Amino acid sequence: MKAKNRYERAQQVLNWIDYYWPQGRPVVIKWKKQLSDNAYGETYREGSKLIITLSKTKCATWETTIDTLMHEAAHCILWGMASVEDKTAHHPPSFWALYGEIKDRFDHDHGSEQSKEFSIYGN
Ligand SMILES: [Zn+2]
Repeated sequence: MKAKNRYERAQQVLNWIDYYWPQGRPVVIKWKKQLSDNAYGETYREGSKLIITLSKTKCATWETTIDTLMHEAAHCILWGMASVEDKTAHHPPSFWALYGEIKDRFDHDHGSEQSKEFSIYGN
């Protein structure tokens, strides 16, 4: 399915990530004009869901959007069913290993093309 803009593309890539690295909970993308601390993205728990919030201002290109989404999705995968509020490190080496695995698959192992076959809609 062809994404018409970075909003649809972000959802499509999230669906691709969830297929290969199940996130264990429903994950919802929300867009805001700006985030606190001028962040690119942030992730938090809301009830049984994980919410990835992306900054429309900072994620101005498809490339930045996808890169930020992969970062936030890696948090979702690692948090899984655990409590997000746990006082664990947010970016331990295991985080970067997972992020690197996703990014490498996307950039160098057909992930980008593959992801275009996924839905542009959330569940
Ligand atoms: Zn992070």
